[in-house]
Amino acid sequence: MEINKEKFIEKLESGIKKLNISYSNEQLEQLWEYYLFFIQENKKYNLSTITEPEAVIKKHFLDSLVILNQLDLGQRKRWLDIGTGAGFPGMVLKLFLPGDSFYLLDSSSKKVNFLNQLSYKLGLTGIDATHGRAEDLAQIEEWRGSFDYVCSRAVASLNVLLEYAVPFLKIGGFAYLYKGPEYKEEIKEAEQALNILGAEIKETIELDVPGLKAERYLIVIEKTDLTDKKYPRRAGIPKKRPL
Ligand code: SAM
Repeated sequence: MEINKEKFIEKLESGIKKLNISYSNEQLEQLWEYYLFFIQENKKYNLSTITEPEAVIKKHFLDSLVILNQLDLGQRKRWLDIGTGAGFPGMVLKLFLPGDSFYLLDSSSKKVNFLNQLSYKLGLTGIDATHGRAEDLAQIEEWRGSFDYVCSRAVASLNVLLEYAVPFLKIGGFAYLYKGPEYKEEIKEAEQALNILGAEIKETIELDVPGLKAERYLIVIEKTDLTDKKYPRRAGIPKKRPL
């Protein structure tokens, strides 16, 4: 299938304008390069079933960027994306926050290879794609309690995701967790996890992704206390026996 660059950029730019975030031509070009490489490598790396240009723009690029007009990010700069897959939302956010440091973590080495090649291709600095499981990395001293922000999309239910995410945060740091329409139920089931891990729900924001009908929400979590060293538990346990 022939992919038309002009059309792609036009659709992308129109969506970004609706999000009301500032952007440059360079960022549009980078997302175009990202798209081309993603399509080229998709089969090899089994990245996503969403490949049609408009769907990638809405469901991956704009859905990743939509949080930027909601957040007051201040001076803090160290981000972690847990279960980033093909870089959503972390890689896309990095392109729009070029001065921030981004760590992209995934348990699939194929996806991490893809991301390392992509960041080399785009000439990015201040980005690190790492292969591993959140449960293991969060027990390593350089990673634990060291992030200002954690983000994550489509990785696990909230109670499980909190056990992955909260140990990585500095006290006063925030987790931005993308969720769908079942978010209220997930919040109810996550009360105990929040207490145990030392975190609170700051707010829930309804997201409006241009051109997307799906209900999207952002759960904003603040880490308020130190997390006991026994969390996260061994790889696989958080999912098997959620807090
Ligand atoms: N965040 C991306 C997105 O929204 O397109 C990818 C979502 S994909 C459904 C879930 C990803 O999380 C997979 O790439 C998987 O390898 C990764 N993952 C699942 N559990 C993980 C864990 N415990 N630690 C690190 N990565 C994990």
